Amino acid sequence: MKFDEIKSRFVNFLKERDWEKYHTPKNLCISLLIELAELAEFFQWKSDEEIEKIMNNPSEVEKISEELADVFFYLLSLCNTLKIDLLTAAEKKLKKNIEKYPAELVKGKAHKYTYYQKNVNKED
Ligand SMILES: [Mg+2]
Repeated sequence: MKFDEIKSRFVNFLKERDWEKYHTPKNLCISLLIELAELAEFFQWKSDEEIEKIMNNPSEVEKISEELADVFFYLLSLCNTLKIDLLTAAEKKLKKNIEKYPAELVKGKAHKYTYYQKNVNKED
């Protein structure tokens, strides 16, 4: 299913239930955080090895997939309510990040971009 199709089907899902009136920016931000917390619970206090075991369990992967879908739908609805095109926003942000984090400067490093601005002449 393409992005526009799932978006359209989701908007219809809301309209058919008259739920759009509840989808205010505040409610959607809170709902998005709650769904993200539900997702994070699967990984809370787990080592990388334990997470790997979880991800090898199909029923756990299914549950995690459902939480990811919940996050996706609330993000989609928030963008819809705010009249922001998510794909356009993502494309613009990716371009900015490419400029902010030049691969030749940051490869293999995980500093915030301000680190590179301060240390650009100190890098070897
Ligand atoms: Mg959920």
